[in-house]
This record gives sequence, structure tokens and C-alpha cells, in this order.
Amino acid sequence: MRTPLIAGNWKMNNSVGESTELVEGIKKGAEGVKKTDIVVAPPFTALHAVSCLINGSPISLSSQNVFWEEKGAYTGEVSPAMLKDVDCKYAIIGHSERRQYFGETDETVNKRAKVALSHDLIPILCVGETLEERESDKTFDVVQTQLKGGLQGIDAEGIQKLVVAYEPVWAIGTGKTATPEQAEEVHQFIRGQLKGLYGEEQSEQNRILYGGSMNPGNASDLLSQPNIDGGLVGGASLKADSFLAIIMAAEKPSL
Ligand code: PEP
Repeated sequence: MRTPLIAGNWKMNNSVGESTELVEGIKKGAEGVKKTDIVVAPPFTALHAVSCLINGSPISLSSQNVFWEEKGAYTGEVSPAMLKDVDCKYAIIGHSERRQYFGETDETVNKRAKVALSHDLIPILCVGETLEERESDKTFDVVQTQLKGGLQGIDAEGIQKLVVAYEPVWAIGTGKTATPEQAEEVHQFIRGQLKGLYGEEQSEQNRILYGGSMNPGNASDLLSQPNIDGGLVGGASLKADSFLAIIMAAEKPSL
């Protein structure tokens, strides 16, 4: 039985003050949450402030990226040790916005995932096709290549902790959500790929999140699919009410 996970990716939004206000609201509303893991990924500047506020709560902290070197002359980068220092538990890796705007490749995604695991950070490894790729029937090929590339060299121990996020690029921030059937089809495919690489028992344990315009109106239908184990939520995670409504959808006993 996989524990549902709802992660809020705040992207490049929120000052320290706005971040603390938002997390206070989430904390208050999440008091009764029992069976869902809750994660927030504030911008780097707010990690420490948010970390102090969630200490002892059911909310965990994630970064939106991680660099693969330990320290040194890498202007603008943040190391895994720095993230551990502020009590990050997760790191989002390979988000399509990083791939699209910052030259992220499967190779760099793989380096980040491996260094995250070696520092006891749980990678949330993002994969997903563009609209053009979907329309030319390349969805499975693209997802397979990104997944295999991102997981290169990750062994049986590493994969136990890793979380995959399927985020069709055409659904991110566009208000166009994949239908539950479209999403489930790819989630099933991803689980099949994990089975091929790591065996059935392991593949049944890995959590696969859906991301792409998830909101309080579509969360229940998406989350009730057998292979959708949670959500990576952008826009709807920026307001406590909408993020909490998605968390409550994951809490439903039918899941
Ligand atoms: C995301 O940033 O990972 C995301 C899914 O964004 P949104 O929910 O806004 O589509």
C-alpha cells in the first residue's frame, strides 16, 4: 500500500513573509491529516524560514533543485549538504521548466538524482512529454528515455526512496489537465518500466505523482486512479485553501 504524497512546488513565487504565511495556513489546515505525506518546495530564499515553522508538523520540506558538487566555485548553485542543513527531505529534480529554460538534460538529471540519494535526500524525478511529442505519438518513447536516463546507475537501494512525477509539459500551468485515463495510462507505463528495471515488488512500492494543473476540482478523479499516488502541484499550491483541498482528496478512504 503506497502512502499518498501531495507536494507543492512554489516555483519562483513568494517572499519569505508570504512563504511563512502560506505554510502557517497549510499547517493549521493539515492538523487532522493522517494518511497523506505533505511536502512543500519553497524558493531557496525561504527554505530556512519555512523549515523552522514546519518542525514537528506533518509537513516536509523539498528543494526545487540540487547541484551535484559538494562545494566550491559554482556561483549560483546549492549543494545537497546545504539542503540537508535546512532539513530538506526531498529534492525536485528534472522539472520540465529546468529542462526547457536551463538546459537540464537526462545526464544532469541523473547526476542530481544520484547525489541527492547519496545525501539522503529523496529525489522527485520529473518526466513528461511536450504537446508536440504527444501529438506525434512519442509520449511513451520520451517518458522511457527520460526515466532510463534519469535512473542510470541508481541501484536497488536508491530506487527504494525515489519518487517519480509524471508531468505532461502541455498540462503544466496551462489549466489543461490530462484526463484521469490519459494520466493513468502513462503512470501504468512508468510502473511497467520500473518493473523491468528493478522487479515487480519494487515497482509496486514506488510512488508516481501526477503533475499538471491539478486542482481541487480534478484531484479526486486523478488520485483515484490505481497508479496515481499523489500530486506535484504548482499553481494550486500557492493558496492554502486549494492545496489543502487537494490533500483532503488524497485522504479519502477509497484511495
Ligand atoms: C508543476 O509546477 O510541477 C505543476 C504541475 O504546475 P501546475 O500545477 O501549475 O500545472
